[in-house]
Amino acid sequence: MASFINVVALRTIHGRSWWGAERSRCEECRQVLRLPDLIPLFSYLWLGGRCRYCGNPFSAGYFMVEVAGACIGAAIAWKWGLSWASCAGFVLGYGLLLNSLTDIYSGYVYDFYAWIPGATVFLMRFAGGTEALLDGLAGAALGFGFIAAVILVSKGGMGWGDAGLTGGMGAALGWKLAIVGIYFGLMIGGLTALVLLLSKRVTRKQALPLVPFLALGGMVALLAGPVVLGYFGIEAGWPWVQ
Ligand SMILES: [Zn+2]
Repeated sequence: MASFINVVALRTIHGRSWWGAERSRCEECRQVLRLPDLIPLFSYLWLGGRCRYCGNPFSAGYFMVEVAGACIGAAIAWKWGLSWASCAGFVLGYGLLLNSLTDIYSGYVYDFYAWIPGATVFLMRFAGGTEALLDGLAGAALGFGFIAAVILVSKGGMGWGDAGLTGGMGAALGWKLAIVGIYFGLMIGGLTALVLLLSKRVTRKQALPLVPFLALGGMVALLAGPVVLGYFGIEAGWPWVQ
């Protein structure tokens, strides 16, 4: 999944289509890569991170994205097993990964990709009944409204793609877990920004991509959110039942 999502992200930011018959090539020698060169994780390790044909090093980013994808899948399956929660979790987790990658690579969130994960999980909510659907609507309104308010107050800094993605995260998580996700996302992002500023790795004028932090917050909510809510005696709602 992560290997595929990385291709989608890279081709999208370069304005190429990711569907159809275009083969993956070495960026240096343009040699078409064959199946043994394209096995996620293993090919990179086996070939020492280099092109088999010209010896040019491949970006370690490919490997890191594949590791991240394996961790997302394993963590969700471990936490939720065979359930609607896992289905929703996979869609949201990999959707967040895709949007994080386009944001990291190009500083841009694509509206279509931002809306797809939330819309897909919202459709799943029909299986949970009226209460689950209302929970999704409330989560979408909360996520979208929160970022929209930040955009209107700060006049920049965040974009409507961020609002769409956070709305989608809310639709998938439901409003209670959405609060957990946004809270942890902003905390992780804020602390990271503080460390980068204090260590002078960035200046106040520089923009940091926001989506990866929101995505981390969303993953915290997916994996630990129901436990966090449990401390306050609150149930997370469908499909997040233990
Ligand atoms: Zn090559």
